[in-house]
Amino acid sequence: MGKLRSNIGSGDKLVCENCGAELTPERIYVHEINGAKHYFCCEHCAHEFERKLRIAH
Ligand SMILES: [Zn+2]
Repeated sequence: MGKLRSNIGSGDKLVCENCGAELTPERIYVHEINGAKHYFCCEHCAHEFERKLRIAH
């Protein structure tokens, strides 16, 4: 905690949609669900998110 630096690039900061971990270009897992791209930190999170999505629907 306590690291409040302005982001380089000032674009959208990508975080894992499942666990909220920060994503870097080297460590990113893109998974397409229903034609929309979602970003995760790993394959595990992608599947976990997809499962939650199905339960919610
Ligand atoms: Zn994750």
